[in-house]
Amino acid sequence: MMINYIFMKRETYSEDYDTVRLSYPLELDNKCFVCGNDVKYQYSDDGKLVHTLKGEVNQVVNLYSCSNKNCAMSKIVFNPSPRFDYSDRHFGADVFRFISNEFLLFSAKPSQIIKRLNYYHQLDISIDTVRRMYEDVLKLKSKKIDERTKEIVQ
Ligand SMILES: [Zn+2]
Repeated sequence: MMINYIFMKRETYSEDYDTVRLSYPLELDNKCFVCGNDVKYQYSDDGKLVHTLKGEVNQVVNLYSCSNKNCAMSKIVFNPSPRFDYSDRHFGADVFRFISNEFLLFSAKPSQIIKRLNYYHQLDISIDTVRRMYEDVLKLKSKKIDERTKEIVQ
């Protein structure tokens, strides 16, 4: 069953998912990474349901802005914490890594990957999604190659 989770706010407690609230990264000690002043909590986003290898995660991101009025980071809200999802997709970074390994290390076909994700992780994923992730893997790879070429040239 597919439900459009994107535009609705979820309950914090549910049997269907774990809610994980991402606060400001501990190592930054509530300091703005641009100017070093304190950041202030503003609000949290509506949450996003991310399909990970360990099940569903309702990822809620706390958003902050810089308390220094002269800093560009005081005009926006942000949180540099690593996310469970990758880019704007609703699958976890772990799923992305799994698929990219399958493609790059084992030359697996999308249909094989779908079976493995289903068997080992009880994760349902469409062939279109796997193909889209594969394109992302290729884009990332070519970007890395570009960087390497750049290094050689420099
Ligand atoms: Zn700042």
